[in-house]
Amino acid sequence: SMASPALLMRVVASAYSVAEKAATIVRNVMAAGDLGIVEKTGANDLQTKADRLVQMSICASLARKFPKVTIIGEEELSSDEVAEELIEDGHCEEILKKTCPAQYTGIKEEELVIWVDPLDGTKEYTEGLLDHVTVLIGIAYGGKAIAGVINQPYYNYEAGADAVLGRTIWGVLGMGAFGFQLTEAPAGKHIIVTTRSHSSTLVNDCISALNPDSVIRVGGAGNKIIQLIEGKASAYVFASPGCKKWDTCAPEAILHAVGGKITDIHGNAFQYNKEVKHMNSAGVLATLRNYDYYASRIPNTVKQSLVP
Ligand code: AMP
Ligand code: MG
Ligand code: MG
Repeated sequence: SMASPALLMRVVASAYSVAEKAATIVRNVMAAGDLGIVEKTGANDLQTKADRLVQMSICASLARKFPKVTIIGEEELSSDEVAEELIEDGHCEEILKKTCPAQYTGIKEEELVIWVDPLDGTKEYTEGLLDHVTVLIGIAYGGKAIAGVINQPYYNYEAGADAVLGRTIWGVLGMGAFGFQLTEAPAGKHIIVTTRSHSSTLVNDCISALNPDSVIRVGGAGNKIIQLIEGKASAYVFASPGCKKWDTCAPEAILHAVGGKITDIHGNAFQYNKEVKHMNSAGVLATLRNYDYYASRIPNTVKQSLVP
């Protein structure tokens, strides 16, 4: 008989269904019309009812199935009992059927860390820029992002009533990434994707130094990685602190699974062990191809301003 699926594949298969449930919550909160906006550190750092409900849903659902896994979510919430209607206990059968990469078959629950951004692009969500929003579930082992799920609840929302709304992208290192069409950015063009709501002089000076043909300003770390893997942009450049481990873990796993690269602005890899500090203090540099072109052109003055 078949051996039971490896833990990693069971976690990814569950995270897929949990992220789809999360997307339903994100759409339902918006449709109900009361976002319940709370300012965290300020007007550009918001939390809505969707951020809160989705985090409860994801964390409680995964914790129930995988009690020894460490789960770290963005939002600080009171530890009230989670309503049963928020629990998702399903999994994606198709993912469970795939073979786990050999180097990950022996992973135990207590060795995994799951980084959860229940709603990435909250500022844009509150402003109706709905396709910027993603739900991010990143899975780390040995301090590395090895698997991830990105759900885009409003994918296709401007494509008309016939289009299927929402999608789920997932990936595992050594296996690849699925749920989208991998596309190269236009050759010979430098198209930079960056923040729309967290700009600064440093952010803009760094972009100017890269000699861009065009600059795309959109919300969300998940959304920006999607721009890279679908060939809309050639580099994601953010020379600022502000982005956290839950923003980069799932996107990193998916980008690396298709041969891309993400680091801080100095070229340092991100670490995802449970003790690590949450802030990516030295910014973000990510590409699908030609990482070295961009890395070699980050000005030293920018690097000196961003301490890891
Ligand atoms: P952005 O590209 O501005 O959408 O940022 C990507 C992620 O990093 C989002 O989750 C933001 O909330 C977060 N982020 C970036 N800069 C800041 C900041 N200055 N304050 C709070 N969150 C930030
Ligand atoms: Mg985020
Ligand atoms: Mg968030």
